[in-house]
Amino acid sequence: MKGLGVSSGIGIGKALIIDKNQLDINKNYVTDVEKEIDRLSSAFETAREQVNELYKRAIDKLGEKEAQIFKSHEMMLEDETLISEIQDRIKEEKVNAEYALNEVTNIYIEMFEKIEDEYLKQRAEDIKDIMHRVLRILMGIVNIDFSRMEYSTIIVAKDLTPSDTAQIDRKKVAAMITEMGGKTSHAAIIARTLGIPTVVGIDNITDKIKCGDTVICDGKTGKVLTNPNDKQLTHYRQKKIRLDEINKELKEQIGLPTVTKDGFLISLAANIGTPNDVELVLENDAEGIGLFRSEFIFMNRDCQPTEEEQFEQYKEVLVKMGDKPVIIRTLDIGGDKNVPYFDIPEEMNPFLGYRAIRLCLGNVEVFRSQLRAILRASVYGNVKIMFPMISTMKELKDSKKILEQAKKELTHEGIPFKDNIEIGIMIEIPSAAIISDMLAKEVDFFSIGTNDLIQYTMAVDRMNSKLSHLYSQYHPALLRLIKGIIDNAHKAGIWVGMCGEAAGDPKLIPVFVGMGLDEFSMSSPSILRSRYIIRNLNKLDMELIANNTLDMENALEVEEYLSCVLSDENGKSLKRCKSRRKKNE
Ligand code: PEP
Ligand code: MG
Repeated sequence: MKGLGVSSGIGIGKALIIDKNQLDINKNYVTDVEKEIDRLSSAFETAREQVNELYKRAIDKLGEKEAQIFKSHEMMLEDETLISEIQDRIKEEKVNAEYALNEVTNIYIEMFEKIEDEYLKQRAEDIKDIMHRVLRILMGIVNIDFSRMEYSTIIVAKDLTPSDTAQIDRKKVAAMITEMGGKTSHAAIIARTLGIPTVVGIDNITDKIKCGDTVICDGKTGKVLTNPNDKQLTHYRQKKIRLDEINKELKEQIGLPTVTKDGFLISLAANIGTPNDVELVLENDAEGIGLFRSEFIFMNRDCQPTEEEQFEQYKEVLVKMGDKPVIIRTLDIGGDKNVPYFDIPEEMNPFLGYRAIRLCLGNVEVFRSQLRAILRASVYGNVKIMFPMISTMKELKDSKKILEQAKKELTHEGIPFKDNIEIGIMIEIPSAAIISDMLAKEVDFFSIGTNDLIQYTMAVDRMNSKLSHLYSQYHPALLRLIKGIIDNAHKAGIWVGMCGEAAGDPKLIPVFVGMGLDEFSMSSPSILRSRYIIRNLNKLDMELIANNTLDMENALEVEEYLSCVLSDENGKSLKRCKSRRKKNE
């Protein structure tokens, strides 16, 4: 089988199928009504035990207040009225427990959804949650606990949400394979951050692989083999050993400066989602954090984190990073990053919708509490603040105004913060790229978000694996936009980085160095290879190569040309493309 490799490396292990779409409920007539009622009672009992276990773990991890949600789920599972209504349905209609449960709970869900009061409306979500839990137990669908997997697990799923992926233990998961998703879907980005080989875009993957099958997954070529023979196993084991050796050699780059052969210093930073990711950042000797996707702090929970909770997490990252810069990007939810308690109404085009800075400017309290938390944490390290998805000057000015208000509040309350914090924006929307000359006068830095910039420039959903041929970081349209952004930033005297996935692409690093990019921020496992590449480049040569790409007709031509420029993608040798070189000289 072949899909799209989105996180390189070889994974070999046993498949674990995660099929969340199995909750199709059929209406079946039963003869043994008592047996159905027993099944129902024992499913409720198991659900109560599970929720109680979750409650205990949440107290340890999140504290009493956050854990309360599981207590209220436990109480609902003890609700005699609800249980007897379901039992009555089974008796009266002689139907299976799954059907009766679904019918009865749906009446309550609809009732709560109609209530105006926001708090009571939310209870519909709780009922859905417990209903799904009991249904999964009745239907024998294993509840996946992402944090408690066996070693060498190959996760096989139709789709993985960013919040699913964020819970994965990188030491236990050997690879991931999904049907949905693109190279820059957030699940893929997290996979790269964690260094887990991943392949997406294989249709009906959950039918093609069975639980417990031995699977080989090549995250670079996109190849997936099930129950391989000895020859194939030996081949891929050797390939894995070779990759491990290259990674070991790259460790020699630790401690070296990221400087081109002709003496241009470049900043090499890492992208993170949670404080736990800092371990890999330091292991790979990144010079800072160029993108802290703060929205991950808001995921996998039932309510918004308080200012205090956020403060603790930002402080933890800053303390761990010492005096190295940490760019905290303010909340960027929406698109494929769903946070249910924000209750974003369903939209036709979520990636073009109410997300990121748009949502923050519409929920000033949420925004202000995040800014206050970052400001308070600022005294513990070298923080910079970055706003995502800026598309107009007004959004930027409004965001800065709210930041100023937050500063004023803290000053008034006598709470210390650093007052010389650099402020930057992501350039990830074509309108921002086009007016980057104006935006540059308002900020201290730009960071180019190629993941979104590609999707909005090419009009291709970044999640759609069927359109991955159009979603390309090599397209000259994108490269021209990037060149314009860098030039505009430099004209205004500010520095410019890149935190989209293109920043870690070995073929494009020479191009961006040639264009004058000051900072590259990428997944931690890509850092040392990128340092190796940069240390073997002459910036002045790369200027010519970068210019050449701008005149090419299409992405394929650019990619082939760059493959020639950097013949070995592992960065072990840098041969120039002779014919092109002649043209340059
Ligand atoms: C981007 O769009 O390039 C980016 C870095 O942000 P995200 O991937 O979180 O949308
Ligand atoms: Mg983005």
